[in-house]
Amino acid sequence: MKKYHLSEQELPRAWYNVLVDLDEPLPPVIHPGTGKPIGPDDLAPIFPEELILQEVAAGPYATRFVPIPDEVLEAYRLYRPTPLIRATRLEQALGTPAKIFYKYEGISPTGSHKPNTAIPQAYYNKKAGTKRLTTETGAGQWGSALSFACSIYDLECKVYMVRISYQQKPYRRTLMEIFGANIVPSPSPDTQAGRKFLEEDPNHPGSLGIAISEAVEDALQREDTKYSLGSVLNHVLMHQTVIGEEALKQLELAGAYPDVVIAPVGGGSNFGGLILPFYREKKERNLSTRIVAVEPTAAPSLTRGVYTYDFGDTAHIIPLVKMHTLGSTFIPAPIHAGGLRYHGMAPLISYLYEKQEIEAIAVPQTAIFQSAITFARAEGIVPAPEAAHAVHAAIQEALQAKESGESKTILFNLCGHGHFDLLGYEKFLRGELEDFEYPEEEIQKAISELPKVEA
Ligand SMILES: *Cc1c(COP(=O)(O)O)cnc(C)c1O
Repeated sequence: MKKYHLSEQELPRAWYNVLVDLDEPLPPVIHPGTGKPIGPDDLAPIFPEELILQEVAAGPYATRFVPIPDEVLEAYRLYRPTPLIRATRLEQALGTPAKIFYKYEGISPTGSHKPNTAIPQAYYNKKAGTKRLTTETGAGQWGSALSFACSIYDLECKVYMVRISYQQKPYRRTLMEIFGANIVPSPSPDTQAGRKFLEEDPNHPGSLGIAISEAVEDALQREDTKYSLGSVLNHVLMHQTVIGEEALKQLELAGAYPDVVIAPVGGGSNFGGLILPFYREKKERNLSTRIVAVEPTAAPSLTRGVYTYDFGDTAHIIPLVKMHTLGSTFIPAPIHAGGLRYHGMAPLISYLYEKQEIEAIAVPQTAIFQSAITFARAEGIVPAPEAAHAVHAAIQEALQAKESGESKTILFNLCGHGHFDLLGYEKFLRGELEDFEYPEEEIQKAISELPKVEA
């Protein structure tokens, strides 16, 4: 194992804004009520102005490189730059001629890449006078990251946590409470959307789509409150590019450059964060870097979904975006990679996939846990189940290199540790984990229920 560290001075000073580099603009965002493209004013009740401008790359943000504010850099320094590690022990264990590098985001205070955007989102809200933020969380990674960021900037934080996770992941809840957040299981009696689902079923297990509806409704009702989303949106992916920018510098120290860059995809934020700077380099320097997104077979929005307009939430109160989707009525199987259980994909990542700039593969959960254990035994880090999707794909690439005898450099995102996910590991070790293929009829059914939008 060999680590490549950057000093604090070498922490990147700008995020990469890929929007200004795309051949065509992304399709417009559509208002759920009028069916017409929305304007910045429509988003003002839920996001502060600076994040809206970043979302559409307008005003001071119509530029390729967006300076990271000093206050954000200061908070980033609590855990950044994160290490880039050459997995030499894993290479030996696999007997591969490939070089395997991983970027380790698990050293952040809450154990994943999510604080990279939670911090700037809380910062821009504080600056705009917001007193309170609402959000949803599934597995708890995003809720913990935002709770932590709100504690830095002294904001109140209310988290709607998918009920089934609230019950199954009590320690994530405690972590959020340590940072001072207020957590309720979703659906909750606190919102109209929540009450509607509770009437249908008082023990409703909840879903990410329902929790988003609740958090947005809450923010719309209070003047002092805004909403914060941890993935999918353009500004979120931009904040995450600090990962790829650091990795580029660290690979230079290592004297290496990847032939293939791999990351797991849920909503697309850690993937975008790592790959977008490599996508820029690929275009600019005419490289043939392969870029691979790894999703679960239980929620295969890129490999089996359709590219169309869909709702991001279940109550259909947030705007429609064009994305790869399985339909907002899709309820994914209860796999342990909770962070990847979402029906849609970031519009930006969907666009790149549609343009065949990136590849995607879907893998089942028993395979990812097996690879995660191989990795843990070699490198000493227990990957989050989400991150294990990338571990698995990287191992497959390394084994192919062994078979063909080709030299190959692989980079993947180890976007989080799995210390709160030991239940999944325990079940795997006991042979109790099942694989889920999403049935084609179910996909077709959810897709037939997609909204009709001409644009
Ligand atoms: C939330 C999360 C994900 C999925 O979200 P993306 O926006 O696709 O990155 C993946 N890995 C970890 C560790 C997460 O916490």
